Amino acid sequence: MNPKKGRVFSGARPTGRQHLGNYLGAMKNYVALQQDYEAVYCVVDLHALTTLDTTQNLKSNTLDMVLDWLAAGMDPQKAIIFIQSHVPQVTELHTILSMVTQLGKLTDLPTFKEKVRQQPHNVNYGLVGYPVLMASDIVLYKADTVPVGVDQAPHIEFTREIVRSFNFRYNTTVLIEPQMKVTEFPKVLGIDGQQKMGKSLDNHIEMAATQEETQKRVMMMVTDPQRQRKSDPGNPDVCNVFTMHKIFSHPEEVASINKECRNAGIGCVDCKKIFAKNLNEKLMPFRDKRAEFEKNSDQVWDILSDGSRRARVIAEETMIEVRAAIGLP
Ligand code: SF4
Repeated sequence: MNPKKGRVFSGARPTGRQHLGNYLGAMKNYVALQQDYEAVYCVVDLHALTTLDTTQNLKSNTLDMVLDWLAAGMDPQKAIIFIQSHVPQVTELHTILSMVTQLGKLTDLPTFKEKVRQQPHNVNYGLVGYPVLMASDIVLYKADTVPVGVDQAPHIEFTREIVRSFNFRYNTTVLIEPQMKVTEFPKVLGIDGQQKMGKSLDNHIEMAATQEETQKRVMMMVTDPQRQRKSDPGNPDVCNVFTMHKIFSHPEEVASINKECRNAGIGCVDCKKIFAKNLNEKLMPFRDKRAEFEKNSDQVWDILSDGSRRARVIAEETMIEVRAAIGLP
């Protein structure tokens, strides 16, 4: 067995059924990393509380997301998969790390300012402490590696600052400064072809959608905006359908579409039909596996329960060291 390269941590809010953007931007990477690293993957339900108006769907959204994770290949034999709130040590560490974090720095963060703009009616205390809770998640499990996109790099740098503050204040080396594993995530645009794929914009394609739903969403995709009719030559370089073809279609088909689009040999309707067919074929094994897990959702809760138990063991080991380093009685 290959020795593991280190421990990787990543968390995701329970947002329910995942879409292609989630898959290409995170889940695919989670599956790859669990081969080489000790992987710790968390449903960050406490983080979700900072922005949710209602918690009514929290449980079902957790189940739906984890069903997608498991169906995509995240493997409880290789990774610890669990729920943030099932490991209470994270809230203890959050409180402790809050004491070594300056309030001004938190309120100056662009992410905090953005949230204030988005929800002026609910600028809660949790929003301010969000990056501290995130840091707590990472360092509680002594993760040395965090996979991030370039835009998330400042969050990890902030975690590293908090760790340095703690270690300096208590003259210890207990907490580990995590390293970023910057990954080139493809920018996945939604069916509007303009903005990043996301549920809130309703421009997404769900992984677990039926074949018919998938086809319907694909047929709504915006193509080359300059192309008005089939007889106009198109430009695949500015077309999101073509970008998706490059990810999900066979290279020969991609080459053919590239050529035929430019000389008006193929229309956008036909092009999208081909993409929908290819996408449905690619997603078929995922959907079958998901349906199997869904039939037996108790098994999914058992996986999460076992993951939380394993996570608590690591968390308590860290907290024993943290409490001792501080000198808590
Ligand atoms: Fe895009 Fe395909 Fe239409 Fe070309 S033919 S503009 S690649 S949808």
